Amino acid sequence: MLSKIDLKIKLAVLVVLAVMAGFVWQQVWSQQANQQYLKVDFFDVGQGDSIFIETPDKKQILIDGGPGEAVLEKLGNEMGFFDRSLDLVILTHPDSDHLNGLIEVLRHYQVAQILASPAQTDGAGFKEWQKIISEKNIPVTIGQAGQQIEISPRINFDVVYPFSGTGSGTNTSSIVGRLCYQQICFLMTGDIEESQEKTLGQTNFNLNSQVLKVAHHGSKTSSTDGLLSRVQPQLAIISVGKNNSFGHPAPEIVERLKKYTNKILRTDETGNIEIKTDGTQLFFEN
Ligand SMILES: [Zn+2]
Repeated sequence: MLSKIDLKIKLAVLVVLAVMAGFVWQQVWSQQANQQYLKVDFFDVGQGDSIFIETPDKKQILIDGGPGEAVLEKLGNEMGFFDRSLDLVILTHPDSDHLNGLIEVLRHYQVAQILASPAQTDGAGFKEWQKIISEKNIPVTIGQAGQQIEISPRINFDVVYPFSGTGSGTNTSSIVGRLCYQQICFLMTGDIEESQEKTLGQTNFNLNSQVLKVAHHGSKTSSTDGLLSRVQPQLAIISVGKNNSFGHPAPEIVERLKKYTNKILRTDETGNIEIKTDGTQLFFEN
């Protein structure tokens, strides 16, 4: 006959086993639910850009890191505590609102490869970025229009800007890339401005994209009709800080975007914006 204590121990073991089984199944279900989706998270990092991409086969890419450490918590939430490696980090250009968070990412994560803008600066942040890259011996490719990066089967990142000899400006040397999964594309524009958009508009690159990361946080010096008519986005994302001192996004740009798309999402209003696609449709909240 079982004593009361034996019974209690057995019950406790059963409860623990049931909880563990439930946890395992929850993991399996959530992995299956995400399996076929490309996921793109526009992190709310205040005034700046930081975009996390995860493919169905778990390749992980980060485009820009925002202005500070906020990106670390965002990445931790998306990737989990134990995953400390990224397959690719892209620095669109070395201004602090894109670069500074990436310095923290290089410190805390193992980064397999970097794709960087050709622009360089004399700033302390850029020097630190270069120092860590050399200490950790991370391979760096300089972004140039025409590069085609196969991230996963059927998922590509095609660089459409900058061209060689573009000049040394930071915004004006931003990497622009089109991330495509079958029929769905995202155009990532960094902080390009009017004249770069004009140059892009004169190329034969296919720029048509369902999702547009609006250039330069919605600044009035970007998002020309020429570019928007080439992209024809279903959804426009503005990555911008609440009450920022630049007045981004410019009201006239928001009005202009409305001519081309009926959906605009802003990180200052919505917080993190997560978009999933199975290669044919977009899924997002709001
Ligand atoms: Zn910026």
